[in-house]
Amino acid sequence: MASSQIQPGLLRKMTVRKVLESLQTHGPLSRADLTRDTGISAPTVSKVIVDLLDSGLLEEGAAPDNAVGRPGKKIQLARDRAQVIGVVLDQHTSVVLAASLDGQIDKGRISTFATPGTYDGLLDQLTAVVQGLDGDTTSQTLGVGISTPGLVDEAHERCLFSPNLQIINHQTPAADLTQRTGLEATCFQETRALCLAERLYGNARGLEDFAMMDMSTGLGLGVFSGGELLRGHNGLAGELGHITVDPTGKLCGCGNHGCLETVATDSALTAMLSERLNQKFTIDDIISQLRNGQIQAPDEINRVCEYLSIAVAAAINLFNPATLFLYGRFLSINAAIPEQVVRMAQRRTLGPTFEQCSVQMAVTNKQQGAVAAIVHHLTRSAGPRMAE
Ligand SMILES: [Zn+2]
Repeated sequence: MASSQIQPGLLRKMTVRKVLESLQTHGPLSRADLTRDTGISAPTVSKVIVDLLDSGLLEEGAAPDNAVGRPGKKIQLARDRAQVIGVVLDQHTSVVLAASLDGQIDKGRISTFATPGTYDGLLDQLTAVVQGLDGDTTSQTLGVGISTPGLVDEAHERCLFSPNLQIINHQTPAADLTQRTGLEATCFQETRALCLAERLYGNARGLEDFAMMDMSTGLGLGVFSGGELLRGHNGLAGELGHITVDPTGKLCGCGNHGCLETVATDSALTAMLSERLNQKFTIDDIISQLRNGQIQAPDEINRVCEYLSIAVAAAINLFNPATLFLYGRFLSINAAIPEQVVRMAQRRTLGPTFEQCSVQMAVTNKQQGAVAAIVHHLTRSAGPRMAE
């Protein structure tokens, strides 16, 4: 095909992406500001804005008082006329929520339920809640993002293997939900979704090289390298949690023994304390009882810190991130814990790599991850009615 035939499509796609990225980074902007920020010509930007307004991805805000005519109105990611739905699947509890395209979660429209024991049960529940959130508003629902634990073949949106939520193995929740609800849906591995959330809504805005370690239910690593998510051959990269650290250790959901995630996660602490105290705890129970002195667990906390520091050191040594974000409730037990983990990791890290890396707590969560996943999907494909 001659380059003159390819160019208009490519140019349009590039413009769409730049306009959406610019609005995600800066919030509402005038047409003139968008032209300046993207560095693309005003007519090209204007044409793309018309398409994006039509698709529902963008809205025009109110004109400023001192502006005359249309050019003064700011353009923003849809807030009022469109919404997206986020789904967070997890071992014990799942969450479905509504949000605007700029990532604001509607706090009055979050539904939390015990994750059903079968895939059909899960799909029934998701369908009912998603349809509820789609139907209880005049906003158009542009799509559903599903944050999924385990290995997800992103090209085919299929869950390959989820050690901690095996009912979704070999299933295609996005396609199945689309079939039942008629809504566009995408399935995104949970740690990679967290990476997107931190980059869109958190402290990774503008960062090109960072990593996100989720140490909540399982242990996963998402890596943003050169401004793109590191995929690996099939998009399965980052399963740091299934590296063996104790060959004779506890059985992991993956079938091996002594994986890092059996000793370095919220779940690991919960399991250790439930066993010692012969009581079934959740991580929330543990945190509140530790804080009010009902239970003490210095040995268990030290053990999780020790293994978590091995995971942190591995991520820093392997990927040389500018920032490593950590996500997990364990780290919020008290302020000394993250400091201890970083100190322990420093001993296991090569000096120059450690010195160049800042370790921080993630400020976003998996709910925002699910929202970021669908926003990313929609903006990459440039909108539900604009597929090329
Ligand atoms: Zn494992």
